[in-house]
Amino acid sequence: GAGPLATVPDPRDQRLGGLLSPDFDDSSCLSRYRAALYRRPSLHAVSSYLVSALRRYESMHRRCGPGTPAYARAVERLRTSPPDFSNASSNTSSDDAECSYVVWGPIEGLGNRILSITSSFLYALLTDRVLLLHLSGDDLHDLFCEPFPGSTWILPADEDFPIGDIDQLTVRTHNMSLGSVLWRGDDPGVAPWLYVHLRHDYSKVHHEQRFFCDEVQARLRRVPWLVFRSDNYFVPGLFLIPRHERELARMFPRRDAVFHHLGRYLFHPSNTVWGMVMRYHSSYFDGADERVGIQVRRFHWAPISTDELYAQILNCTQREDILPGVNVGTAKDTTGRADGGRQPARKKAVLVVSLHGEYSEKLRDQYHEQGAAGGEAVSVYQPTNLGRQRSGEQEHNQKALAEMVLLSFSDVVVTTAVSTFGYVGQGLGGLRPFVLMGPVDGKAPDTPCRHPATIEPCFHAPPTYNCRAKAKGDAGRIVRHIRHCEDFPQGVQLV
Ligand code: GDP
Repeated sequence: GAGPLATVPDPRDQRLGGLLSPDFDDSSCLSRYRAALYRRPSLHAVSSYLVSALRRYESMHRRCGPGTPAYARAVERLRTSPPDFSNASSNTSSDDAECSYVVWGPIEGLGNRILSITSSFLYALLTDRVLLLHLSGDDLHDLFCEPFPGSTWILPADEDFPIGDIDQLTVRTHNMSLGSVLWRGDDPGVAPWLYVHLRHDYSKVHHEQRFFCDEVQARLRRVPWLVFRSDNYFVPGLFLIPRHERELARMFPRRDAVFHHLGRYLFHPSNTVWGMVMRYHSSYFDGADERVGIQVRRFHWAPISTDELYAQILNCTQREDILPGVNVGTAKDTTGRADGGRQPARKKAVLVVSLHGEYSEKLRDQYHEQGAAGGEAVSVYQPTNLGRQRSGEQEHNQKALAEMVLLSFSDVVVTTAVSTFGYVGQGLGGLRPFVLMGPVDGKAPDTPCRHPATIEPCFHAPPTYNCRAKAKGDAGRIVRHIRHCEDFPQGVQLV
């Protein structure tokens, strides 16, 4: 019961220091004001400048979003604009455009999508555009609550939407892609809409990377509709654009928590997903003194045997004092505890999330059979082991989101290098992860895990084009707060 000493959650904390709008009815989305109660208090302050930028954004979204007269006019202008870029030279529609938009289309798994939505949102925030998500199929439905009060961020499904099949906009040489417009030497500023290809295979040869150049950004201001498709966290790229420098510095005086703030602002699991989270939480995490999350991801391009990876996990967690060792040479008793059934000093709950069941099975067996050294009780759980990725399926994605959120409720988190799934868990939780480093020639590396200083995700495919030098460049050496990633040296991250 709630006695006089029970801690009443600070209402300001429930709104995450003003990050969340007060304009929501709590019952519409159970997770929105509650998720924070399950996480460690954030160590990262939200700037008042960011808070007011978000409130301004919300009122713009309410005014320009789907269902408003302004939205209808914007779609109509798009419909009546010349269909072909080559005829668009006298495009005046953008000058009197009251609202402009960035439409996001999905590529890859849920982690990649969450990170590219966040990047697109920050771009929208910086350039006064309304962010709309194009959902192909059912796979993103009933996953997130609406983040903006009094409106929707879902692009209405409309057979006649003038841009046509957004899912087909994968070809970067598409007539309306920014890269091809620049390649032809045309002015992107006169286009009624443009496709911006920011997938990891975008190239400097085809000019797509010039998206991150100041003069191209200046032209894009006049384009009312931009369509983004990306599998990357391209936020660090936005920090490379001089015209956004001041605004970003005000929004994020500390640059190393951008995803932590924007992710907690945008991604609130739907009531269905929150129900899963709560059920897993009460069966696994409740009542533990310490919660340890371990995310094990295997990539086909980084092969390693199950035994080798399991040894790496043990090596990392024991070296870093995350998990206790096991009692060596002690006879086990029937209670599964080597200490003869004494009350354990501390209860540690280990949540393993993985597509594969072997790692949690081995870990569980080990502590059951031999008992944890030091009298701790270690219990090991894994909510699902789905075997393989099926990102086109709604229930599959719901489970994935539930597990990312559970991971963010950990006290200590171990993630796998390069995994965006892990980035989302660590970022929502504001947790500096211990990162299982990738294999070297099929073997676990000598240093099993590292503990990077930043909680920021890595931008795996930064531009290799230096705008100022108009030549090949290294995005990790342009500004002081953007460095190569510890888990993936080709990438860059905010520090
Ligand atoms: P990444 O490939 O590790 O960068 O992460 P993504 O989230 O982009 O893609 C991996 C996808 O595989 C996830 O979205 C899930 O659909 C699935 N997946 C991978 N690991 C797990 C896991 O531990 N639990 C669940 N439920 N799904 C997973």
